[in-house]
Amino acid sequence: MAVKRVKMYLDGQWVEADSGKTFEVKDPATGEVVGIVPDGGASETRKAIEVAYRAFKGWAGMTPKARGELLRKVDSLMRERVDALARLVTLENGKPFEEAKKEVTFAVGYFDWFAEEARRTYGELVPSPFAGKRLWVIRQPIGVVGAITPWNFPATMVTRKIAPALAAGCTVVLKPASATPLTALAIAEIIHQVGFPAGVFNVVTGARSRPIGDELLQNPFVKKIAFTGSTDVGKQLMEGAAKQLKHVSFELGGNAPFIVFDDADFDEAVEGAVAIKFLRVAGQSCICANRLYVQETIAERFTEAFVEKVKAIKVGPGVEPGMQVGPLINEETLKKVSDLVEDAVSHGAKVAVGGKRLTEGWYAKGFFYAPTVLLNVTAEMRVCREEIFGPVAPILRFRTEEELIQRANETIFGLASYLYSRNLGRIMRVAEALEYGLVGVNDAAGYTHEIPFGGYKESGLGREGGRQGIEEYMEVKSIVVNLPK
Ligand code: NAP
Repeated sequence: MAVKRVKMYLDGQWVEADSGKTFEVKDPATGEVVGIVPDGGASETRKAIEVAYRAFKGWAGMTPKARGELLRKVDSLMRERVDALARLVTLENGKPFEEAKKEVTFAVGYFDWFAEEARRTYGELVPSPFAGKRLWVIRQPIGVVGAITPWNFPATMVTRKIAPALAAGCTVVLKPASATPLTALAIAEIIHQVGFPAGVFNVVTGARSRPIGDELLQNPFVKKIAFTGSTDVGKQLMEGAAKQLKHVSFELGGNAPFIVFDDADFDEAVEGAVAIKFLRVAGQSCICANRLYVQETIAERFTEAFVEKVKAIKVGPGVEPGMQVGPLINEETLKKVSDLVEDAVSHGAKVAVGGKRLTEGWYAKGFFYAPTVLLNVTAEMRVCREEIFGPVAPILRFRTEEELIQRANETIFGLASYLYSRNLGRIMRVAEALEYGLVGVNDAAGYTHEIPFGGYKESGLGREGGRQGIEEYMEVKSIVVNLPK
């Protein structure tokens, strides 16, 4: 496999780090080096911000329709390259190729959606309480956006930020995760080929996030930080952003309850639980089920069916055909997942299947963990309180709806939740009571472009996607006109 040697993208140019230093990107399935990219830091970030600032006036001055047309061209070119982009996602992130294709296809959809939304950034003419005055409210792009993205969805996390920001008329400096910069740079290549004005979109890569992040926070030209990642880092960034009162939007960690009532469609609930627990980046997704709550009356039967399905999951390198679960991203994540399982077992949990690192054969060089189901779990265990971010499913039992709601909400997180029932009254009551930004009712597919996505509580601030997604990148201005006599 040829190692990809890519430069970073500043001011419409492909450039090395000022120091000439580089860092390696590794395949988590094999440990092999798959890419070498520039190791940039504060000075490259400063340059990127300056060119983004210079490009802002021209870009914001274009009509939304014209910006939307460029976004549409990105959409077309990205669609032509879905397979190539998906191969990159699999290489640097590890997820199975078919899953990577789904991710890239979904990621492209944000360009399509926000190309249209650009034309709908309406203002208002507000009825005036004064005879001689008129009141207008208009929306304007915020300015330069610093976007910071994680490794678990190397394409979607990028497009879900840059498409609305660019559509709104903002210019962008993107810092992708150091584990997965290749996909972000491949998206930059497409934006370059489409012919965006220089400086409108820039990508700074670096092995150390701190210097890049600090520059984004401290540079007064940056007006907004759009971040997806862990809650801990989100809090640090919020503190930094507070010094200049920059706008922020944060998509952070989750601890999703997956709730199955005894009146649910049983097979659909089992399928849904397997899909949203295991078949999204091996459980390394913010919206993955973290705690499975099953009503006592069906808990035995559910567990049996669920465990059978989990045993059949195909685990292996994402490039191998038919794989459903790939490796975890790195040793640290693998260790955290192992620690959570050990902690649960030491407090009385029982491993129904899995519960160990996979090390034989093609697993030897990668970070593979066996799909795991834990029984006899209690809410106090770390595995229920923390975001697992791996292929481990703790099953808990509940009796009543009231008790369930209270237990499901007992967490600092509030991103996604899932509820299976065929009783409409119950669906409405529980969906309204869950303190989560997303409630999937008899649905484990997650969200889509047309609806806003984001968290309650410590899972985030602001929304991405939907009509609201573009508003996050716009200021609201009121213009009071005292009509000339
Ligand atoms: P992370 O460690 O918080 O990193 C996310 C991004 O922030 C990476 O680009 C990282 O750079 C950068 N970063 C880390 N420390 C920084 C600092 N001090 N200043 C500036 N940038 C900094 O999270 P992760 O491990 O990549 O991703 C997993 C987390 O993301 C999970 O908690 C997951 O739930 C959350 N997530 C949330 C959503 C959502 O929509 N709510 C979606 C996906 C993931 P490096 O890569 O160089 O460390």
